[in-house]
Amino acid sequence: MRINKLPLEVIKLIAAGEVIDSLTAVVKELVENSLDAQAKRIVITIYPELWMVQVADNGTGISALHLSNAPLAHTTSKISSCQDLNNIQTLGFRGEALHSISQLAELTIASRIKGDCGYQWHENKNITPCALAEGTIITVNNLFHNIPLRRQANPPFKQQIKQIQILIGEFALCHPQVTWQLLINDKLSLHINGKNQADHILLQLLKSINYTDLKAQKFSINNFSEDHNSQLEIVLGLPDRLSRPRPDWVKIGVNGRVIKSPELESAIFSSFHRTLPRDRFPVVFVHLHISPRHIDWNRHPTKREIYLHNLDFWQQQIKESIEQIFTISEQTISNQRVEKLLTVAENKPIYQIEKKENTASLGLIELKVIAQSRHTYIIAEHSEGIWLIEQHIAHERIIYEQLLKQWEFIPLSQPQIFEHFSPRQVEHLDYLGFDIDSFGEGLWALRNMPQLLHSRDDMTEAVWELARGADLDSAKVAVACRSALRNGTPLTISEMQNLVDQWKITRNPHTCPHGRPIYLSLEESSLYRFFRRHWVLGKSHGIN
Ligand code: ADP
Ligand code: MG
Repeated sequence: MRINKLPLEVIKLIAAGEVIDSLTAVVKELVENSLDAQAKRIVITIYPELWMVQVADNGTGISALHLSNAPLAHTTSKISSCQDLNNIQTLGFRGEALHSISQLAELTIASRIKGDCGYQWHENKNITPCALAEGTIITVNNLFHNIPLRRQANPPFKQQIKQIQILIGEFALCHPQVTWQLLINDKLSLHINGKNQADHILLQLLKSINYTDLKAQKFSINNFSEDHNSQLEIVLGLPDRLSRPRPDWVKIGVNGRVIKSPELESAIFSSFHRTLPRDRFPVVFVHLHISPRHIDWNRHPTKREIYLHNLDFWQQQIKESIEQIFTISEQTISNQRVEKLLTVAENKPIYQIEKKENTASLGLIELKVIAQSRHTYIIAEHSEGIWLIEQHIAHERIIYEQLLKQWEFIPLSQPQIFEHFSPRQVEHLDYLGFDIDSFGEGLWALRNMPQLLHSRDDMTEAVWELARGADLDSAKVAVACRSALRNGTPLTISEMQNLVDQWKITRNPHTCPHGRPIYLSLEESSLYRFFRRHWVLGKSHGIN
């Protein structure tokens, strides 16, 4: 590949800037170059006290002819004209990183392309042959030796190393096929084995989780106005099994790089709304593979923030896809990671998308209620096992989703009279939809009631609870909780069947609106293992 100097008019269009401000920034730039060179194995070695970073890869390498061009300002093999800026297929394109690094540190580049021997470049020295496998080794020594202030501005090494580990984890998720090693002072600090899919990477990064806690699915999104088919890849932790105390595992990748996008993050959070306990956050990795024409990377020098065309379209796609993953399907049971390519319905003019036939094959499972236990658990059977469903919270989920669709009040034949409401409580009940007016000194008349509370004995308590000032959504949760069947209530098989049938088609059947899990599954495959049914009969009977 030729490394050429960019024309001046291209240089002017690039959001240039000082990007090398830390060891992490050096690692980021070098790793991006390795990924652009199609490396499948990347080894990062750091000696923090020496301010030294080395990145070795098995990528395509740099030819001897172009080796000395690489560290010059604005030289790149990745773009050559203004038009190319609209179609960036690589992580790098500004031709600045190696140059900036060479101004701040001692830089050595050793590289070998196929069919040649290795060569090494070092500032002020001739290019010399060297022994090297195919690929590139870039060594950055004594970083910021000429600007001690920048060293001081960096956090302690421990923190910098943590940042670097996070950074590598993010690249690994975006490039699951790559094997990574991070060595700090010769000690292995991180090792990630290359796999086919991002969920396998996530399992290596978050050691405490199980494969069955995750769901991964790819959605292909046709965009008829383009030759390019977009893909939305989602890996998420099922909310009944996995959550975090901080929002540190909500990651969004766009074409190979994790970015910051408050808009897309809020789409993810809203998809998990009312599925997790209070103050818990989901584990989600969303990766958009989209036409480079829809991205402008020139928003920020680190490319961490971008401009994305049709942001609201992508927000919607993310929400719909997560919703789709949540529904209980055949896949939930078999836990097969079939990569179903689903197209999602959408009728915006530029994105004409049709639902494909195979959506239907996600058919809902047949759950046959067979008994009730302790007047609390519904026992249901399906072809692959048995589920225990807690009746109260399953019902709560159904009601909550009904209330989301319809928050309906009906008039009371007799107004309910209340005493001692504060002006704030009155105002709040009015906001929730109650028809409330003064009924004389310190008295208030309530003339309507949420439909579900209408004929309940505890209607008065419910109104006091709602007057406390929670927002509308919390009011819906409170009403759902209050009107859901209590545990301890005996139910007939057909009542339970009815409940289970309604519950399994809710948008999020996994958890109640407070985030508690609703069902426990005992799959035949695990029962088989538990009862050691795989043992040879003779052996377990002591007969050889
Ligand atoms: P950019 O990545 O924006 O092109 P850089 O300064 O990071 O600019 O790199 C300059 C050029 O050096 C790249 O365009 C690429 O051709 C070459 N290069 C750098 N690192 C590697 C690597 N690890 N493997 C192959 N080529 C590399
Ligand atoms: Mg680069």
